[in-house]
Amino acid sequence: MAKLYFYYSAMNAGKTTVLLQSSYNYQERGMDTLLFTPLIDNRYETGKIYSRIGLHATAISFDKDFNFFEHTKHQMKNNPKLKCVLIDEAQFLTKKQVTELTNIVDQLTIPVLAYGLRSDFRGEPFEGSQYLLIWADNLIEIKTICHCGRKAIMNARIDVQGHIIKTGEQVQIGGNESYISMCRKHFNASIV
Ligand SMILES: [Zn+2]
Repeated sequence: MAKLYFYYSAMNAGKTTVLLQSSYNYQERGMDTLLFTPLIDNRYETGKIYSRIGLHATAISFDKDFNFFEHTKHQMKNNPKLKCVLIDEAQFLTKKQVTELTNIVDQLTIPVLAYGLRSDFRGEPFEGSQYLLIWADNLIEIKTICHCGRKAIMNARIDVQGHIIKTGEQVQIGGNESYISMCRKHFNASIV
């Protein structure tokens, strides 16, 4: 039975690497996958997913108005080998789009694997993650560690000098240089 999976973690835990590996596993078995990445992610060119360790793949860019269900349904009509949907930076999904993912699983009966951050740099939830945590069949944590060795569950935002930033817009895309993943204790100590 097809399921909706939410792979969540703090920054720099290797979510994108796991996504690309999962997609490759399908392709190795003769099945096609659909990859999605937010248009907002301008770290690299749009329409591509890059992992920090050098893997990359072509992806379809989505914005807040993109309809995942209609797009996937249309693609499946043209390609019977299409067997899995994978979404990078799934924290940026809207509530409506998370519902569309559940409809892909329940009506089109193929699995959807969504990968995203659980919380933003203020410790607040992202809309996409919030609803994925509720609606996904399976929740899988991808773990990374704080500088102290404990599991990192929070994301601190830093400026170019390496100082922790406490205020600002929720969405500001950056890689290693803009965020540090931390355990709760060190995150709390850093924002007081
Ligand atoms: Zn720590």
